[in-house]
Parts: sequence; structure tokens; C-alpha cells
Amino acid sequence: MTSDDIIKAFDRMRVWQQGDRRAVHKPLLVLHALAKVSSGSTAMEDWNDAEPRLKALLNEFGPDGSGKSRHYPFWHLQTDGLWQLEGPQNILSRPPAATPTLTELRSNHVRGGFPPALRKVLQADPLLVATIARRIVEAHFPESIRGDVLAAVGLPDDLSAAPMDAEARRHRDPAFREKVLLAYQYRCGVCGHDLRLGHQTIGLEAAHIKWFQAQGPDIVPNGIALCSLHHKIFDLGAFTILPGTYQMVFSQHLNGSDETARRMLAYHGAGLILPQSTDYLPRPEFLAWHQKQVFKNPARQ
Ligand SMILES: [Zn+2]
Repeated sequence: MTSDDIIKAFDRMRVWQQGDRRAVHKPLLVLHALAKVSSGSTAMEDWNDAEPRLKALLNEFGPDGSGKSRHYPFWHLQTDGLWQLEGPQNILSRPPAATPTLTELRSNHVRGGFPPALRKVLQADPLLVATIARRIVEAHFPESIRGDVLAAVGLPDDLSAAPMDAEARRHRDPAFREKVLLAYQYRCGVCGHDLRLGHQTIGLEAAHIKWFQAQGPDIVPNGIALCSLHHKIFDLGAFTILPGTYQMVFSQHLNGSDETARRMLAYHGAGLILPQSTDYLPRPEFLAWHQKQVFKNPARQ
């Protein structure tokens, strides 16, 4: 297998993303396994060791409730030719659709990892590992949280040395940011943050409501101007915006010290600071996607 073949094999993960639904199970497992390889681990990993890590990653970065199916990629990644399992024959010989239960994987200590030949190539080539990791995070996560995903799996959170994924950069409208900031008059739609240094805005970003990675378009009704902090927690699903009323609703999972929580939760139930023209209002279908695929239920009262 050449490096190009390997990159292509991992790229096929893109087709796992079905329509509007975020399917991050396999990408997160692969990132976790890449981190193990780059830390020098050569052994297959026991499901019992991998499980708590995958559960935490899915709870943090996956759609609501996706942690329940945390064992699916451990089994299904085999069919992509990128994964190998070791364990009792009565489990390994099952047809691809017969996913073992959590209990079966645990009690039989089923082990998984990249096939040895692939692992060897990856281990000898840190830049290849970085390239694959970068392509995966670019294909599945918005920029605001890519560093968090990489840090959480244990990979360096700056992969800028690795070549970019040209595919992921295609068709982006370079004027999107400027149009969105203008629509919101250069202030955060949540807190009104509009700090400038001279004429330069500081910490103000154009967030996609429906992620670009999920085929969300670069149009103003799919954007909101947000400060860096509100952008990040919006992409992590700490709050969402209700279609119709544009009311902000925060997740019960968000917490902090009294002072921090009070400041953040002051916006719970408040209305978004609306754009200057109704043409720019967030479209209900994009808000509905965010609520379903990103927001962390349950909502606060
Ligand atoms: Zn803000």
C-alpha cells in the first residue's frame, strides 16, 4: 500500500455521512486509533479499554445520544478494510450486519486495531498520520472545534504541517464571513460583543448554523455573527436557537462556577440579536438541523 492508497482508503469515510445526519462514529474511532499509533502503541486495543474513551468522545462531539451506539464502528470498520479484530471465533465469524452487543465485546475481551501492515506504514510515517487526521477533522468538524477534537483524542491540535484537504476547501464562498458580519452589524448575535482595535474587529466570527461539513450552504440565512466563545459553544451544542421565535435555549450539560454560569445562562430564553434585514434571518430548516444534530439535550427549563 502506498501513502496515496492509504489516504484514499481513509477518504472513503466521507460516504458514511448520509444526507443530513452526522455520522462521526468511524471518524472518531479512527482518530483515536491514529493517536494510539502515534504514541508508539503496537498492540491491538481491548474493547474494555477503548469503550470509555469512545463513549466520552461521542458524548462530546457526536450528535445527541450517539454514545449509545459507541461499539458500532469497532465492528463495522472491518468492512472498510481499515480494521482488524481478535477474539473468539464464534464472534469474529459473524456476518457484517450481526454487530455483537456491548456485553459480548466486553466479556470476550475483543481487541481491535489497524491491520498490522497498515499500522507499520503509519508508525513509520508521522506526516502520513497527521495528513489523514487533518483530512478527517476537516471533513467532519467545523474549524472552531477541530483543535478540541484532536486534543481530546490525544493528537497534536495543530496539524498545519500536514497538507490540506483541497476537497474540503472547494466551493467555499470567501465573502461569506463579510456578508454575515455586515448582516449582524459586526456584533455577536448572542452577547452583542463588538470589540474593535482601531477598525479591526476582534474575536468576531461568521458561524454556520448547518455545518459546511453537512452540506450547509455559504449563504447569510445559514450564518450568524458570533464572538469566538459563543461560536465554539454553539458548534459544541451548548445552546441552540428556536425557529420562529429565535429564542436561545441552553443545554443542561453546560456548567461552571456561579459567576461564569450566571453570565452565560443570562442568555437562556433571551432572543437572538436579529440581523438588520429580514432577508438575513436564520432559516428554520437550518436551525432545525442544528437542534437535532448538534444541540446536547436536555434543554434547561
Ligand atoms: Zn458572544
